[in-house]
Amino acid sequence: MIFDVAIIGSGPAGASAAIKLAEAGVSTVIIEKETLPRYKTCGGGFAYRGRREMPFNVSEVVEKEFFKVDAFFQKGGVHVSSERSEPIISMVMRDDFDNFLVKKAKEKGITLLEGHQLNDITFQENIILHTSKGDVKTKFVIAADGALSKTAKLTGWKETRLLIPALEYEVEVNADDFERLSKSVRLDFDAIPMGYGWCFPKQNHLSIGLASFRKIKVNYKDLYKDYLKETLKITEVIKEEMHGFQIPVSPRTDGFVRKNVFLVGDAAGFADPLTAEGISNAIFSGNMAAEAIIESNLDNELSAEIYNKKLEVTFLPELKTAYKLSKLFYENDTVRTFLMKKYGEKICEAMTQILMGERSYPLDIMKTIKKKFKSAIFS
Ligand SMILES: Cc1cc2nc3c(=O)[nH]c(=O)nc-3n(C[C@H](O)[C@H](O)[C@H](O)COP(=O)(O)OP(=O)(O)OC[C@H]3O[C@@H](n4cnc5c(N)ncnc54)[C@H](O)[C@@H]3O)c2cc1C
Repeated sequence: MIFDVAIIGSGPAGASAAIKLAEAGVSTVIIEKETLPRYKTCGGGFAYRGRREMPFNVSEVVEKEFFKVDAFFQKGGVHVSSERSEPIISMVMRDDFDNFLVKKAKEKGITLLEGHQLNDITFQENIILHTSKGDVKTKFVIAADGALSKTAKLTGWKETRLLIPALEYEVEVNADDFERLSKSVRLDFDAIPMGYGWCFPKQNHLSIGLASFRKIKVNYKDLYKDYLKETLKITEVIKEEMHGFQIPVSPRTDGFVRKNVFLVGDAAGFADPLTAEGISNAIFSGNMAAEAIIESNLDNELSAEIYNKKLEVTFLPELKTAYKLSKLFYENDTVRTFLMKKYGEKICEAMTQILMGERSYPLDIMKTIKKKFKSAIFS
């Protein structure tokens, strides 16, 4: 089997790249180790900034829409919220959502090889991908195989991303608890040191999770139990499934293209460093890699150059700013509590604007914050 582009992984990054390539008539295969639809550990909160850029309506795989988001900061006793007329967060189950995107790509003509795990790569004039069910030849590879990216390892990338562990529980609660908790999306900072807990209501259950944005030793399971009991006040758990995985919350520092292999989504480390929201950036980066290959007319050097340029225009600078903000936000409780008490509503509004795609992270934000902090201390 010979293709122009082989995409490893059928998550939002891989499926989005596939759709673009198919539309441009580039022969494309998705190689996916699981059989679709497959469960993916994820809160399934799809921000409007990603949803508004989708080339088709995704309503049929949206379980619930939330026009208001609440954030609680236990330490400072702060509660902030924001509202919009469009859904700030759309709740999806990733098995249905990802499968829906892949179906769209298939309708446009791509080949899907599911149940094919990439095991090894030989780099020759063409790239030969050795999968659990045979070899596939290709000119380009898009590595969309997520946080643990085997493709990146096989191509020679070292680990330079910050990977954080996160726990996700799919929880069925009694009717009263569900009625109370299913009406809003809540983020609880201080539910875990240096991170947050979330309660994301789906059609018939709650996706509840915890992530710390720094590698610290905490007992996730105990914190989860406390979160359920003390914060969410859940009285009865009917059914509960635990899933753990990692989220890369900082981009790689050793490049994104090598030997005609393009890294996208979590494989590149593109989840938002402040929120860990990764679906939107997976889609955006998948699109950019596909566009680079198309715009270069399948030229090796030019496609790499175009992809790097696309990333450098706004995407990478914004991630760098978000990473700096995450240091301030998660690594210093005193600063965070001070900022939230004094500017909580403003910060919440700014974050909502980012989630909505109304603005991006301001690149000079650190200067502004330092100035405000100094003037507040010395006034
Ligand atoms: C607990 C948790 C909660 C999260 N909550 C949210 C949230 O609410 N909102 C949000 O926006 N983001 C969230 N994220 C982040 C989000 O899930 C990821 O950023 C996003 O899935 C990245 O998409 P991707 O396409 O890059 O990779 P993935 O979605 O991880 O897809 C990778 C695909 O590659 C396949 N694959 C892997 N290895 C191979 C191989 N060797 N051969 C073939 N196929 C392979 C996998 O089976 C998978 O289908 C969360 C993450 C975690 C862990």
